[in-house]
Amino acid sequence: MRTIADKAVLHADMRARRARGETIGFVPTMGFLHRGHTSLMDLARHKCDHLVVSIYVNPLQFGPDEDLDRYPSDPDGDASKCRTAGVDTLFLPPDLYEPDHSTQVTVDGLTEGLCGAARPGHFDGVTTVVARLFGIVQPSLAVFGEKDYQQLAVIRRMVRDLSMPIDVVGGPLIRDEDGLALSSRNAYLSPDERRRALSLHRALFGIRDGTETAAHHRLAVARDVLDVDRIDYLSIVDAESLQPLDTIDRPARALVAAWMGQTRLIDNVAVD
Ligand code: AMP
Repeated sequence: MRTIADKAVLHADMRARRARGETIGFVPTMGFLHRGHTSLMDLARHKCDHLVVSIYVNPLQFGPDEDLDRYPSDPDGDASKCRTAGVDTLFLPPDLYEPDHSTQVTVDGLTEGLCGAARPGHFDGVTTVVARLFGIVQPSLAVFGEKDYQQLAVIRRMVRDLSMPIDVVGGPLIRDEDGLALSSRNAYLSPDERRRALSLHRALFGIRDGTETAAHHRLAVARDVLDVDRIDYLSIVDAESLQPLDTIDRPARALVAAWMGQTRLIDNVAVD
């Protein structure tokens, strides 16, 4: 595995590979890697000739009061996990944007609810950085986790609407043995917060296993299960459009975002 920091060097190398007919797979991350990330690398590894992983904590997707300045990092651990996962190129750009960067990518509609409502501007930051990374890496395949279910839907929409020649693949949400969705932000949790955070997946699995077709019944039960400091949202939405459902009569997704102290956690599950 080689490490490249310079975006122009990476771009030139990727162009040469594409010209030789190599397929490039790509997994963008913000580092502090765990099994959720490496599961995406495993998925991509089998589908491409050359696998690129990027680690970049993108300031554009953080709000002014969010955790950009304390986002966890572990460069040596990350490199070793990437090596074990068979990554060919680890892309570690110190910055991504030109000093006079002035282009923003916005996906409307899908970004209005859920995390888009709770974190204004967040998805503009995500689509802008992913579009930038796609331009540099030029992958034929990019893998994103269902952990960030709305993000995956937004990226698919961007790729479709802008005719980007990239196959977007979703990887399943990976959980710890006790059910907690793996997240770099779990590192912030105290032992008590971590224990109470298990209520997120319990609430969601309760919704999944419920029998009432009225969404508000299942949501009321789930809200009682949640043992958190604050709820940003707890919703049952159409799995494609992400519009809230009154009646669960089609493939749906239950999603939650909640705060444990200073830590915001998200989780979701399919409701079929
Ligand atoms: P992040 O480093 O948090 O920006 O995440 C990078 C990628 O890893 C995104 O596509 C996430 O959806 C994905 N990811 C993060 N946690 C998990 C998880 N527990 N299971 C599956 N994918 C994940």
